[in-house]
Amino acid sequence: MSLIIIGTVAFDAIETPFGKTDKIVGGAATYASLAASYFCNKVKIVGVVGDDFPQSDIDTFTEHGIDTEGLQVKKGEKSFFWSGKYHNDMNSRDTLVTELNVLESFDPIIPESYQDCEYLMLGNLTPIVQRTVIERLKKRPKLIVLDTMNFWMDIMMDDLLETIKLVDVLTINDAEARQLAGEYSLVKAAKKILAMGPKYLIIKKGEHGALLFNEDKIFSAPALPLAEVFDPTGAGDTFAGGFIGYLAKVGTISFNNMKNAIIFGSALASFCVEKFGTEKILNLTEEEVSARIKEFVSLSAFTIE
Ligand code: AMP
Repeated sequence: MSLIIIGTVAFDAIETPFGKTDKIVGGAATYASLAASYFCNKVKIVGVVGDDFPQSDIDTFTEHGIDTEGLQVKKGEKSFFWSGKYHNDMNSRDTLVTELNVLESFDPIIPESYQDCEYLMLGNLTPIVQRTVIERLKKRPKLIVLDTMNFWMDIMMDDLLETIKLVDVLTINDAEARQLAGEYSLVKAAKKILAMGPKYLIIKKGEHGALLFNEDKIFSAPALPLAEVFDPTGAGDTFAGGFIGYLAKVGTISFNNMKNAIIFGSALASFCVEKFGTEKILNLTEEEVSARIKEFVSLSAFTIE
């Protein structure tokens, strides 16, 4: 089933306790679409870059079977740029620079060939643009997942709340859930957020896994304990891409399938953090992915007599 992914396609400069990169390719839609491409062969990207974005990096999407017809290239403009520095615990980071550039006037174009999409991932981006994409689809997709971050909560909370109302699944991290709901307890925060519109809420907790909330049900997924985490950038987007890519592959939406989708998303995210940027998720084999899924299954499986 086909899947549209919208989000930033960007340049990032990252600093972690293990090293520093110059501008490398990043962006929410980049990570999410690459991750989804491991499960779904009809991934279609919507985004915008400047003419500073190398054609070879656009070709990388195509090589992964990702349709780039909806990726606009703006002549004479610069791509979105983000720079961040991780603290020693690698769970928290400071944003050093956010240059919106092409994003400031981004008007998303949905090609006619994208209109049949059944799954929509609204990756991290201006909430108004996320909403515009929903409005420009002639038929509402079967499932809409929205990912966002504190940056948009800080500067566009009202717009974000309007967009959140329209989606089925919201994925945010624990600090963002607390900020959005104004509650420290994640259980209380989840209850408030579910009342804002989405039927499902996923709270990402970095190295502590993820929680899925739906009505009164809760599922807790582990993160794989890794000896070395090199660069957490994009882990959340990779998670979201793996999550919706798996659901698009399975084709049925249920709490149980969402539980599995969380494990597939977490497995992809666990690869992402092992190298800088997108490097590790560019060339995974099917065997590597299924071996990682098995590790997840055995990690928290137990029997009580
Ligand atoms: P994550 O580590 O999953 O939060 O995602 C990091 C990616 O998000 C980076 O590749 C950035 O280019 C992108 N990013 C950072 N800030 C923003 C923002 N305000 N809106 C959209 N994407 C962003």
